[in-house]
Parts: sequence; structure tokens; C-alpha cells
Amino acid sequence: MSKLISILGAGESGVGAALLAKAKGYNVFVSDKGEISEKYKKILLDNSIDFEEGLHSEEVILTSVEVVKSPGIPDKLPLVQQLLKKNIRVISEIEFASKFSRAKFIGITGSNGKTTTTLLTYHLLKKLGLNVGLAGNIGDSLAKQVIVDTYDYYVLELSSFQLDGVFDFHPHIAILLNITPDHLDRYEYNFQNYVNAKFRITKQLTANDYFIYWNGDPIVSAELANRKLRCTILPVSLEANNDSVAVANGNNIELKYGIKNSKLDIHQLPIKGTHNIINSMCAMMVAKILGFDDNLYLQAMQDFRNAEHRLEFVAKIKGVTYINDSKATNVDSVFYALDSMKAPVVLIAGGVDKGNDYTQIEKLVAEKVKAIVCMGVDNAKLFAAFEGKIKLIDTHSLADAISAANTIAVDGDVVLLSPACASFDLFKNYEDRGRQFKDAINNLNL
Ligand code: ADP
Repeated sequence: MSKLISILGAGESGVGAALLAKAKGYNVFVSDKGEISEKYKKILLDNSIDFEEGLHSEEVILTSVEVVKSPGIPDKLPLVQQLLKKNIRVISEIEFASKFSRAKFIGITGSNGKTTTTLLTYHLLKKLGLNVGLAGNIGDSLAKQVIVDTYDYYVLELSSFQLDGVFDFHPHIAILLNITPDHLDRYEYNFQNYVNAKFRITKQLTANDYFIYWNGDPIVSAELANRKLRCTILPVSLEANNDSVAVANGNNIELKYGIKNSKLDIHQLPIKGTHNIINSMCAMMVAKILGFDDNLYLQAMQDFRNAEHRLEFVAKIKGVTYINDSKATNVDSVFYALDSMKAPVVLIAGGVDKGNDYTQIEKLVAEKVKAIVCMGVDNAKLFAAFEGKIKLIDTHSLADAISAANTIAVDGDVVLLSPACASFDLFKNYEDRGRQFKDAINNLNL
């Protein structure tokens, strides 16, 4: 009888891990406490993989040699605790899949900017001619892709939950964009636990590897000072006259690494805003490390389009520009959204508050925002933070929020959906919130 691997959670990563484990000759059991979607059920059935839904059969799972846990399942689940007590390794899909690939990995993490930077890095490297794949929290799971292992490199988006379950995963290049409070409910409300999770990306870096980070993030810089990394450390910076390897200096980005230094025109970057300068510098540093000539970068990035819901232009109607930034589910991302706005803003914000501290955006709100239209079941936190400081409107549905915003916005203004909150009080998820917003705006256009 072959060894049993159990997979907890039958989403993209879990089903991918099941397919890979089966292909590698393991006995596989998939267990999901919720309902498994029809799409994934069909894949499991078609591949004769045993599964259950609506429960975790502990007596089976506790006989596994290894358990691959979906990033959505918290460690505090009693079953996970029992597995750990029995010394059964509980790993993430990335940990499991990476050992079956000969590719080099470029791992990208941070509280904000992972998806953007991962997609941009992938786009750039592909355009430069590298045989490169894309995985992690985006698209097809790494596990499914490495069943037939054809790429030389993978660009991986890594959340802290994926990183919680990595041990031997060895990226060649690791990028840490920033660390701001998020997901603290999964880290016993201890910020350092979350910081440690993010730094797990550096665990296996050797002298032949690279660590790229933004040196303007105080948390990352402080943590780095307490750690000894053996790899090459490459800071990128938004400050001129900084001896970092990539520096935004007025109209230029200076890349000061590799055989020659170079200057690239900041205005030709395909994505706008200060935060996207950081993201772009990180992506370009990867290309530099891999030896590509920087004369080619701007051209290669030209036709890059970011994923939906990240400062996405929706429409301009009667002179008002509507922007969908539904993915902004924390205060830091709203900070960068406001920072990149050039026109007066009517901000639609609110939803499920994750313990937000709005002081970070107070100054930008005072400078740029005409009114905040609060859109949530409970808008008390926003009112507590901004009452008396700025015009506030209390709404409890998207339709009301948009009509309230439209009573305030005039020719030349921006209506920005950048909620700083999770969406599940009024929507299924942030994608649903963003799509409903876009549909409603596009219907205004008719
Ligand atoms: P993630 O995958 O980490 O959630 P995304 O690229 O999806 O990151 O962006 C999430 C939100 O954060 C968006 O609102 C986006 O505009 C904003 N954002 C993107 N890059 C950064 C960055 N480097 N720093 C802060 N906010 C960012």
C-alpha cells in the first residue's frame, strides 16, 4: 500500500496538490469541511481521487505521512493541532509542489502589491524571452503545473498563509514589498507573528540567492537589521541620492546594479502611482539579476495590463472619472490610492472593518477628499475616525453609495471605490464588489 497524503481544502491549491500527489504515486485523500465546488468535484472524480466534504474524517487523516493544508485553513483548527502533536508535517501546496520542480523560483510577498508585482514580473520576464510560468495565489496552482515540469522559472505570488506552511521551499529571488497590519486574526493578534510569517520567504536563501525589498518600509527594515541573511540583499528606494540598487529620482528610475547603471523614464511605466513605482522597480531588479539588458525593460512592459480591481479605470462620465480599487481591503492600500490621485476625490469606503487605524490616511483625506461616502452595514468606525473633519454620508448599499457620490462629484473629480475594508457584509467578495460597481457605473453611461 502506498503512503497516504491528505489534502485539507479542495480549492485550486488543494485539488492541484491532489493531482500532483496522485501523479507521484501517493495514495491521496482530499477532505473539505465545506462544500466542494462542482468544478473541483468533477476533477477529483475524473481522476479517481478519494474525497469527502462537510467533515474531516480524523481517523483517516491522522494516518497520513504528510498533510497539505489550504492557506484558508487556520492552524488553530483542532485537527491541525492533533496532526502536529503526532509529528505529521502540515505543509502548504507551494512547499509540496516546489520539490517536484527543477525550475528556479521568484517568490513575491508583502501585505500589498503582491498580485501587481507578480503579474508585472511575469510579464516582463516572458517578454524578455524567458521560459517562465506564473503560480501561487494566481491562476493555476503550482502543483498542477509541475506535474509536467516544463518551465525554467516560476514567478510565485506568496501570501503569509502560503508561507506559514513552507519549510524547505527555496526561492532563488525573494521580494518583500512591505508589511502593514493585516490578517491579525490568524496571528493571535500579535503583529510580530505576522512579520515572522512574511520573513519565512527568506528561510532558505543562500549566498547564490537574492532578497529584494523596499527600504522605505520601517517594519521590514527594522526586522532585517535583526536578521542575518546570507544572500545578496538589494534594497529599492523612493528617495533620490540613496545608495540602493534601484532609486526613483525625479523623472527617472536609476538602476544601479549589474554591469552598467542606467536611467529609465518614470512616466513610461505602464502602471501609475508611487506604490507602482516600487512594484515596477522590484520587477525590473529581477530582470537585472537574471542578466537582461535594461534598455529592453520599458518596451517589454509597455502592453502590461494589471489585474481587475486595482486602481482600475472604469469610465469618465460628464467629466467625472470612476475608479475601481475594490481590492484595497486595508488602510495602507487606500493610502497609496489617494496618494496617486491628482484630482479632487469622492471616496467610497467601508465594509467589514478588520481593526483599521485611519490615522495613516487622515492627512491625505484632508488634502484630497471632498467627501467620504460610507458604504457598509455598520459605518461606525469611519464615522468615529472622520466625523467633524470631512463631509460624511452614511449609506448601506452600492446603489445608494453611487447616487450619493454623484450628488457631490462635479466635472474634473474622481469617484474612487477604495474601501479599506473586507466586502462580505454586502458582497460575496472583493471581486463581486468591484464588478457590481463597474456594472452600475457602466449603466450610468447608457
Ligand atoms: P495583493 O495581492 O498583495 O493584495 P494587489 O496588487 O492586489 O496586492 O493590490 C492590492 C491593493 O493594494 C490595491 O488597492 C493596490 O492599488 C494597492 N497596492 C498595490 N501595490 C502596493 C504597494 N506596493 N504598497 C501599497 N499598496 C499597494
